[in-house]
Amino acid sequence: MSQNPYDILFEPVQVGPITLPNRFYAVPHATGHSPLMPNGSMVMRETKAMGGWGTVCMQVAEIDPSSNISNLPMETFWDEQDIASHARMVEKVKAHGAITAIELAHTGLRSRNITTGRPILGPSSLPNLKPGIPGQAKAMDKADIRAFRASHRQAVKRAKQAGYDMVYVYAAHDASLLSHFLNPTYNQRTDEYGGSFENRVRLLREVLEDSLEEANGEVAVAIRMAVHDFKHEALAFDNDGRACVEYLADLPDLWDVNVAGWPRDSGTSRFDLEGFQEAYTKQVKRITNKPVVGVGRFTSADAMVSQIKRGVLDLIGGSRPSIADPYLPNKIRENRIEDIRECIGCNICVASDAYSVPLRCTQNPTISEEWRRGWHPEYLPKAEQSKNILIVGSGPAGLEAGLTLAKAGHEVTIAEARAEFGGRVAQESQLMGLSAWGRVKDYRLYQLQQMANVNLFANSQLHAQQVEEFEADEVILATGARWRADGLGSSHLQPIDGFAKVALTADDIYRGVKLSGTVVIYDDDHYYHGNVLAAHLAKQGLQVHLVCPLPSIAEWMGYTLEQPRVVEQLLELGVHMHPNTKALGWQDGQLQIQRADTGQQLVAIQANHLISVTARLPNNDLWLALQAMGINNLHCIGDAQAPNIIQAAVLAGHTMARKILQPDDGLQQIYLRERPMLLA
Ligand code: ADP
Ligand code: SF4
Repeated sequence: MSQNPYDILFEPVQVGPITLPNRFYAVPHATGHSPLMPNGSMVMRETKAMGGWGTVCMQVAEIDPSSNISNLPMETFWDEQDIASHARMVEKVKAHGAITAIELAHTGLRSRNITTGRPILGPSSLPNLKPGIPGQAKAMDKADIRAFRASHRQAVKRAKQAGYDMVYVYAAHDASLLSHFLNPTYNQRTDEYGGSFENRVRLLREVLEDSLEEANGEVAVAIRMAVHDFKHEALAFDNDGRACVEYLADLPDLWDVNVAGWPRDSGTSRFDLEGFQEAYTKQVKRITNKPVVGVGRFTSADAMVSQIKRGVLDLIGGSRPSIADPYLPNKIRENRIEDIRECIGCNICVASDAYSVPLRCTQNPTISEEWRRGWHPEYLPKAEQSKNILIVGSGPAGLEAGLTLAKAGHEVTIAEARAEFGGRVAQESQLMGLSAWGRVKDYRLYQLQQMANVNLFANSQLHAQQVEEFEADEVILATGARWRADGLGSSHLQPIDGFAKVALTADDIYRGVKLSGTVVIYDDDHYYHGNVLAAHLAKQGLQVHLVCPLPSIAEWMGYTLEQPRVVEQLLELGVHMHPNTKALGWQDGQLQIQRADTGQQLVAIQANHLISVTARLPNNDLWLALQAMGINNLHCIGDAQAPNIIQAAVLAGHTMARKILQPDDGLQQIYLRERPMLLA
C-alpha cells in the first residue's frame, strides 16, 4: 500500500530516449543572469536539482547572434565558446540525479540586435515587437531560412556536446521566430512559408524534423508551444492552436505547453488561480500520445496529483514555484507539505528580469544569492552560542529575521502591537485579489509556532523602556511604515495643498473607516496600492476616480506584466481613470487637477472622500529613542528603515539574520562578483 499520497509525482517518465526521474519539471525561465554570470546561474539551477526537481531547464539560449534580445540577460549559445559554461552547469545539475534541457531559441521579431548590429529577422518586414524601439525586421529570404535551419541544427549539436539530455524547439510567448511564422498577423508572405496553415507551420515542422535528425535518438526533442494566444485570434486554441497540436502531435518527444503572451502565461494570483492553464493543457494531452508538461503556478501537491490523475498532464511544470521553493519536490516526498514556501504569484521575479538583474523573489530571499553569498534556501550556519534576540514588529521583515535566527538556534522573541501577526501583509492580503499574498505571513508564522525557542507576543506594543528592560543580546526593530496623507510623492516632493487635513490613507481603510458616495484616489505610487484600493472600493459599490500623474495607470506594473489587466479590471468595475493628471490641491470637496505633461487646467473632481496613495513614512520613533539611550546591538530593518516593496522587507529580514549569524563573513557585506577575464 502507498505510504505517501503523492507517490505518483515521483514516478519516472520516459521521454523519447531518456527517462525523467520524476514528474517535477523546472521549465525554462529567465533568471536575470546574463552569460557573464555563469556561476550564479549554474548554482541556482543546481540548487533546484538538489531540491528534487527531476528536470532542470536552461533559459532561452539564443542560437546565433541574429537573435539577440539586447539588454535582456538571455543565454547565448552562439558557437563553441559557449559550450564550456553550459557543460559545467549540466555536470552540476546531473550530479544530483536530474535531467537537463536547453531551450534553443531564435527570438525573431522580438530580437533587438543592438549589441550584435545584425538585421532583425522575421517572416515579413514588420516593426520590432517591443514598442518604442525603432527598427524593422528584414523579411527572411530563402537563404535566410536555410541559414536559420542550419544554425538551429548546429545548436542541437552543441547542446549534445555540452551534455544536455534534451533540446527544445521554441515556439512560445510570442517571442519566437517559429511562432512569428505561424502567426498570420506577422507572416504576410506569399511563398510556401506564408498564407495557408500548412505553409505557416512549415518552418516549425522543418526545424522539429531537423532537430530530431540531429538528435539522432541520443537526446530528446521537446517542443515548447503557446497552444492558445489571448491576443491573436488566429492562434487561439480553437483556431490554429489546436490545428498545430494535431498536425505535429507525435513528432516531438515531449510537449511543453503554455499560453501567450508572457503576461498571460505568467499570470499573477491577482488575476489567475493555481492551475489556470488546465483548459488548454488537457486538450493537448487528449491529442498527443507523447508526455505533456503543463504550468499554472502549482504549489499544492493535491492539485498536482489531481491534474495527473485526471489526465490533464504528465509532468508538473514550474518556474515560479521552483524559484519560491527550490526544495518543493523534496518537501512533498517527505510529506512536509506545510514546510513548502508557496509562490504568492506577485511577479517580482519577472520584474527583475525586465530590469536585467539577477532574480529577486518575495518568498525566497536566497534566490540569486546561492553562489555569490553562499546562501542556501534550506540550510543555515548553526549558531555557536544561543543569543537572546528581541524582534519588534511581525511584518515580513520581522518574521523572516525571526525565522532565520530561530532556525539557526537562537532564542527569539517577537513582539507585535496588533492583535494579528503579519504587519502589512496581513492587512494588504485582505484587499481584492491579494489573498495569496498572505502566504508570506502564513508560511513564516506556522514555522515559528512549531519551534520551542520562539516566543510570539501579539497585542504587545513595546516602548523604549520595555525594550531596554528586556536586555536582549540583539534588538531588531521591524516596525514598518505608515502611509502619509499630505500627498508628497514622486511627482510632488512637497505636500499638496489641502491634503493633510482631509485625505485618508490605506491605513484608514485597513482600520475599517466607512466610506460612501464618491471617492477620489490620488496615486503617485504607481504600483498596486492605488489600483487595488480602487478596485476594492468599486466592488463595494462606491463611485471611484483614480488619478495618477504618469502617462498610464499602474505604470510600474508593466514590470510585473499586470498593467493591461489592471486597466481591464478597473474598466469592468466602472472606475473612472485619469492618467497623466497631477493634483494641484484639495479645495471645497474637490480635487483640483491639471494635465501632468502640459500643465493645462482640467475640470476638478468632486468627491466625498480623498485617499492619498503617494509615499510612506518610516515608523522609526522607537529606533530614534533607543539610539538616544545608547542601546547596543540595535538594528532597524525593512520598511522602518526605508519603505519599499514586500520582497525588500523579506530580504532585509534575511540579510540582518545572516549578518548576526556570520558577523565576520565579508560576503554578507559585499558578495562575490563575476568578473570578465582581462586579456590586455
Ligand atoms: P515590514 O514590511 O518592514 O516588515 P510592516 O509594516 O509589515 O513592516 O510590519 C511592521 C509591524 O510592526 C506592524 O505589524 C506593526 O504593528 C508593528 N509595530 C510597529 N511598532 C511597534 C511597536 N512599538 N511594538 C510592537 N510592534 C510594533
Ligand atoms: Fe512567486 Fe512572487 Fe517569488 Fe515570483 S517573486 S516566484 S511570483 S513569490
